[in-house]
Amino acid sequence: MLRPDNNKTSTGETVLEIDLSALENNYRYLVSHIAPGTRFMAVVKAFAYGSEAARIALKLQELGADYFAVAYTNEGVALRDAGITRPILVLHPQPISYKTIIARCLEPALYSENLLEGFAKTARDEGQKEYPVHLKFNTGLNRLGFTPEHAGKIASEIKIIPCLRVASVFSHLAASEDPAEKEFTKDQLRSFARICISVEKELGYRPLRHLLNTSGILNYPDHQYDMVRSGIGLYGFGNDAVYDSKLTPVASLKTVISQIHEIGAGESVGYNRAFRASTPVRTATLPLGHADGIGRQYGNGKGYVTIRGNRAPIIGNVCMDMIMVDVTGIDCREGDEVVVFGKESSADLLAAAAGTISYELITGISQRVRRKITG
Ligand SMILES: *Cc1c(COP(=O)(O)O)cnc(C)c1O
Repeated sequence: MLRPDNNKTSTGETVLEIDLSALENNYRYLVSHIAPGTRFMAVVKAFAYGSEAARIALKLQELGADYFAVAYTNEGVALRDAGITRPILVLHPQPISYKTIIARCLEPALYSENLLEGFAKTARDEGQKEYPVHLKFNTGLNRLGFTPEHAGKIASEIKIIPCLRVASVFSHLAASEDPAEKEFTKDQLRSFARICISVEKELGYRPLRHLLNTSGILNYPDHQYDMVRSGIGLYGFGNDAVYDSKLTPVASLKTVISQIHEIGAGESVGYNRAFRASTPVRTATLPLGHADGIGRQYGNGKGYVTIRGNRAPIIGNVCMDMIMVDVTGIDCREGDEVVVFGKESSADLLAAAAGTISYELITGISQRVRRKITG
């Protein structure tokens, strides 16, 4: 029988709790690692890494974040609608959104001649003067960016376009969290230094320069330049055990036991009968599945949840709306709270157990899951 009163802390449904005081702690910790004059760009793309972009960004604006970054234009528009007044960099703008970018005072990253030409045309058509744009250079990630050798040429082209002004020059590190790739990272750092010199020489003024993401801030503190860009650290992960211990996960995914079953030896659990009981087991069915962001890779014993401090492995295949976990020997009942990840059970470790990373797990929690803001 369902007895919801048994466990007063139960959320009664699947909820992603967002702790703004944890966010504040993480922001202050990261800021303590940067020089006093260095600006802080808060990366709030993908719903603030799967949490809740508007509330997170407003809190960061209140705490003093200087700049925001999103991946796509619609994410920037949502921030403007929510009351974000600080500058917002759009990391990966699409030509179809150039007019919206200008209408909402968003600032595009330009990474190719194509974008530069297209955006300059729109800015001119819209009657803009010195519209702020950001030049992105490819120093080794080989994803987006102008070629370093073209830095001077690009700058000299932009210099004679009166509707544009270079607000910043930046690049992105490929392996800032990986000590085994230190030499590669140092090459990127050197390449970026040369790019900055070439750009400034041609432009005749000095845009902001920025390079470091969260692991860059923590591992390459001498290369902060004028600004750093932090995402994952704000949400509580430092890609390193020492830093993780100083940061606090902002998001906690909690759910509830819907039903408990006693499964006899020889019975199976879930689709395709993927779990087969060799001895009697007690199972709990939980109201979240791959449509909520717990992918199939967490099934069949790889992933787990925590119930009253005990670890309960996910058994069988993850369903669209549900998972089943093994609660044999755990004192629990229907209606009890279940922690999928949070402060005591790290999303980093859960992700690693299924062969992925915290970034994927936390950004994948779907919009079906209610967000509850605390702190
Ligand atoms: C996502 C992103 C970041 C943030 O990286 P974290 O590792 O989450 O701190 C910074 N810069 C760029 C260009 C990004 O795409």
